[in-house]
Formats: sequence, structure tokens, C-alpha cells
Amino acid sequence: MFRAIYLEKSPDNATVATLKELDDDALPVFESGGVTVDVAYSTINYKDGLAITGKSPVVRKWPMVPGIDFVGTVSASDHALWKTGDRVILNGWGVGESHWGGLAQRARVSGDWLVRLPEGIEPAQAMSIGTAGYTAMLCVLALEAQGVKPDAGEILVTGATGGVGSFAVALLAKLGYRVVASTGKDAEKPFLEALGAAEVIDRATLASAGKPLQKERWAGVVDAVGSHTLANACAATKYGGTVTACGLAQGMDLPTSVAPFILRAVKLIGVDSVMAPRALREQAWARLATDLPRGAIDRIAKTVGLAEAIEAAGQILTGSIRGRVVVDVHR
Ligand code: NDP
Repeated sequence: MFRAIYLEKSPDNATVATLKELDDDALPVFESGGVTVDVAYSTINYKDGLAITGKSPVVRKWPMVPGIDFVGTVSASDHALWKTGDRVILNGWGVGESHWGGLAQRARVSGDWLVRLPEGIEPAQAMSIGTAGYTAMLCVLALEAQGVKPDAGEILVTGATGGVGSFAVALLAKLGYRVVASTGKDAEKPFLEALGAAEVIDRATLASAGKPLQKERWAGVVDAVGSHTLANACAATKYGGTVTACGLAQGMDLPTSVAPFILRAVKLIGVDSVMAPRALREQAWARLATDLPRGAIDRIAKTVGLAEAIEAAGQILTGSIRGRVVVDVHR
């Protein structure tokens, strides 16, 4: 038996989240390549907030165990890559949406989806990082791939006190970039400066419709927010600069024009963590192991138990959580 957060639909179509004791036989079965993992930690991502509260239809199959991230130890494997005792990480692949996820003490997933826990990262740290930190790293890799070097100029990070944003600030600052952090939480300026932000700006300056071309400022952008914020970020990006778009905390829309792209050769690069190929995931996690200041992880994350994860899921949607919430599934 194992404990898990369990999502069901009520007769009036509302999502009901409870903490349940489940039998191992209830775990999903894979025809081949299935791996059973004793989960140590999971996390609460924005998407988990949507799943657990039912605010957006991210859950594709019912009942569901949510949790798009986990770290743990392989307890049984039908997959050539994995053996009992291996320490593994899972991010995405539709886990917690279409397949039972990590907010549980046990999970069974396809071995194709797992990444080895890198040397130098402890299991709890891996979940402090979670999909948010791994996505921040994907954004950094995308900036690097476009040739954005620290001497190119300032990098704007939006949604800066959120999971993706706070890791992006810490990573970019450690790599020598001058980071400008945009936030709606004035009181968190010291937090962002401690992570390495050189300047903190009020997100209200980016939140409403602006001119299609603005004074050139950003060499690169990590945007977790979308909507007008992303449009304004593109409009103020320097000639040939790169904007990475990974989130939609403000909105799914993108009310921009082609002007920054055809007049300033600005590049808009989409970043997806969910279906990213294994080689890119391994590269991102290897870089997280070497480039992320350990002090930043402790600053960014706090830990809750499995039962408290349900409440944290509601809080992440209101943007009231600073940094990351790690879930100790045995607490
Ligand atoms: P968080 O909730 O931790 O952070 C989002 C941050 O955005 C908030 O902390 C807040 O930061 C800011 N924000 C919230 N609401 C608004 C608003 N209305 N207008 C402007 N800013 C706002 O989420 P994550 O960091 O985990 O994820 C951020 C986004 O990235 C989400 O949309 C998520 O779905 C997406 N995402 C995408 C991934 C991918 O694979 N592409 C992977 C992971 C996440 P502040 O108060 O500092 O302004």
C-alpha cells in the first residue's frame, strides 16, 4: 500500500482532491519497459495547481494521481536502462496529466521517461529544482544556442519570484549575465538580489499594451508570463537579441506585431519541457548539477508534506508562493 493525492470528478464535474491509501495493484501497467519507483520527493508546479484545483482541464484521465515531477529509487524495472536501486528523476511526459504522477509514495512509468539523478544533486534538491528549474535551464541553453553571451547586455527575467523565474535569475547571474528581474512582489526585492539580480523592476511596467517597437534594452529574455509582458519584452529587445518564451502566468495571448522580428531580427524561441527529448534533458540536468549555486536552491525552496500539497496547489495559482514548494511524500 502507498499514500497518494487522488483526484476524482464529483457528480457536478468538480475536481475533488483527497489523500488516499492505494494498493500497489492500482498502479498503471506497461506492456514493456515499465519501471516502478519508490518516490522520495515531488513538487508543486503551476500545472499541478491547475490539476489539483481543476481550474484548467490539464487532467486527461480519471481518477488521476497528480504530480508532474518526482525523484526516487527504482524498486522494479522491465527496462534495459534501469535496475533496482537506481536514483531517477521524472519531469513531464504527461505524467500527472494522462499518467499517474509523483504526488505519491510510489509510481510506475515508462523507463524511457526517466533521467538519472546527476552526481552532486541530492534528491530533495532535485525536486527544489523540478520542472521549473529544469525549464529555466532549457531557457538558458536556448539563449546560449543563439549566441547570447554575458557581454551582449542585460537579460530580462519575468515572473522572477516564481519557480522558473527564480531559477533563471540564479543560473544567469552565476553564469555572469547582468539580470534584470521583473516582479509584482516589491517586498521580494532582497530575495531576488540575493539570487543575483542586478536590478529589480515592477512587472506593472510590462503588463499592459505598449508600442510595437520600444527603446532597445534586452540582449535576451526569459519569459514565464506571456501576454502583454512577452509582447513588451520583444518590443524592447536589442537588434538580433533572443527572447525565450516558456510560460503564460499573465495569459496565453501574445498581442504583438511582426515589427521586432522583421525590423530588429529579434528571435522568439519557444521552450517546452514536457516532451523535450532525453538528450536535451540530460544536458539540462548535467548543467544544473554544475552551474546552479547550491545556496540558491535552499533560498528558493521550502518543504511541505503530502497533505499540505493540496493547499499549496491553490496558492501557486494566485501567484502567492515565492520560489518552489518541495513535497516530502513521506511526511
Ligand atoms: P509560478 O507560479 O511559480 O510563477 C509564476 C510567476 O509569474 C509568479 O510568481 C509571479 O511572479 C508571476 N505572475 C503571476 N501572475 C501574473 C500575472 N497575472 N501577470 C504577470 N506576472 C504574473 O509558476 P512557474 O514558475 O512554475 O511557471 C511559470 C509559467 O511557466 C507558468 O505559466 C507555467 O505553466 C509555465 N511553465 C512552462 C513550462 C514549459 O515546459 N514550457 C514548464 C514549467 C512552467 P512575480 O510575482 O515575481 O511577478
